[in-house]
Amino acid sequence: MPKYLFVTGGVMSGLGKGIITSSVAKLLQLSGVQVTCLKIDPYLNFDAGTMNPYTHGEVFVTDDGGETDMDIGNYERFLNRDMHKSNNITTGQIYKKVIDDEREGRFLGKSVQIIPHVTDEIKKRIRAVAAAEKVDVLVVECGGTVGDIESLPFLEAFRQMRMEEGPSKTLFLHVSLAPELSVVGEMKTKPTQHSVQEMRRIGVQPDVIVIRGSRALPMEAKEKISLFTSVPLESVISDPDVETIYQVPRLLEREGLLKPIHRQLGLRARAAMREWNAVADRFVDQPLTVRIAMVGKYANLADSYVSVNQALSHAGAVNGAKTKISWIESEEIEKDGSRLDLIDAYDGVVLPQGFGGRGVEGKIAAANRARVSKVPFLGLCYGFQLASISFARNVLGMKGANSTEVDPDTPYPVIDLLPEQRRVRDLGGTMRLGGHDVHLKRPSKAFDIYGTDKLRERHRHRYELNQKYLKRFEENGMHYTAFSDKGRRAEIMELDGHPFYMGTQFHPEYVSRPEDPEPIYVAFVKACAARAKQVGRAEKAEVLAR
Ligand code: GLN
Repeated sequence: MPKYLFVTGGVMSGLGKGIITSSVAKLLQLSGVQVTCLKIDPYLNFDAGTMNPYTHGEVFVTDDGGETDMDIGNYERFLNRDMHKSNNITTGQIYKKVIDDEREGRFLGKSVQIIPHVTDEIKKRIRAVAAAEKVDVLVVECGGTVGDIESLPFLEAFRQMRMEEGPSKTLFLHVSLAPELSVVGEMKTKPTQHSVQEMRRIGVQPDVIVIRGSRALPMEAKEKISLFTSVPLESVISDPDVETIYQVPRLLEREGLLKPIHRQLGLRARAAMREWNAVADRFVDQPLTVRIAMVGKYANLADSYVSVNQALSHAGAVNGAKTKISWIESEEIEKDGSRLDLIDAYDGVVLPQGFGGRGVEGKIAAANRARVSKVPFLGLCYGFQLASISFARNVLGMKGANSTEVDPDTPYPVIDLLPEQRRVRDLGGTMRLGGHDVHLKRPSKAFDIYGTDKLRERHRHRYELNQKYLKRFEENGMHYTAFSDKGRRAEIMELDGHPFYMGTQFHPEYVSRPEDPEPIYVAFVKACAARAKQVGRAEKAEVLAR
């Protein structure tokens, strides 16, 4: 019979609840427990696919084609285990199911209510995930902050599950914050007291509290929290900032988090930490810094590209390098062409995913500059498409070449709509999504990098390379060396005579894990590291600092 560990959040969002959830699950996994995670998002969207990554954070894509919350990516990276779309539940999915059932007459004339009908559906989903994944423990993270109207039905469902399953099969872990005003110099416990009161009002008494803070929580503060919240002292766990998220499992283990979990759920209290800690250690004290420019539009929210950032840092870790990512706003390149000079000063350029026409000309110019200046370049999905366009325009002389996504009347539709996309009307869940087999040609750089001729990689796009122009590309040194769907879709590009100029139609970042970094990222960062070590690079780096 599976057990359930519920993670809730207090005080405010952005505490790193997803990292704590992933770390708790990792500790259980390292204790020999079969475990997976489930994320509940209390918004009404059916999934994250239609949500703006610049306000909500990245859309993560699972192998089974789910467009999910970015925390699913954290779970995969920590657990080194594939998640499914069912590992992410939204209010929209729950209500849609209940309303569909009502229309089908399944409630036999009853009035359909939040309790019990909506809460029943929530419990059914949670239990279904635990059963389908055959886990000993399902860690259920509820998005948002206690007190939000949206999360109430979920917290109520958790409360009911405690009644139904009993305390030896359910555990409530509450994540809170102890803020500190520099003038006062004291970590404050009042916000935690209030958020636990809020939990209790709903009928949930936390069993364990994890307190975020800029530093470790002093003993008096722990005692105070314990006293006011009725949580035993040893179950008040301090979680201060650390250098890399991958150190959080070790931190929580040292704080003794496994003990109360062990006591309540009867699991092993010891985790085999050695291998994981060795992986985490690769992320600190790296001798080399590699400076990478990402070119994009209003690219300020770090969460919009978490998987790319993480994949770069995984690749850096195995190359002994810290990856420092800076943003170049593509619209600023459009306004002022001299911004392109910045590109030369970096050790590498990433052109990430994207949609629509805004900032596209700046991105195309950046792809060209990286090619001409021989700066290592990696194009991801839209980046792969725009680099192909840039090559068509600047090398093949196809003036006005474009993607029909941007210019439907382009004389050279180098990137064009996937045929099956022509009739699509709905925006949600209708792209080419999820894992597809990718076949590599040999000999090729791609084959050298991957060391295999078949990959499984994840996708999220509506447009693709128009193979009408393939021969002209090839004749001029741009090779497409991987294909999917029986050769119908080009998946990897690589340029001759350049230290590293590659792009992928798929998203290699979604499958990169700290324990198993994605090979094309590793090869890219290696090329960047080689450039970083060139003489005179330090002076160039100074240009960036200015
Ligand atoms: N906009 C492009 C397409 O739909 C690229 C999508 C992406 O970068 N994920 O094909």
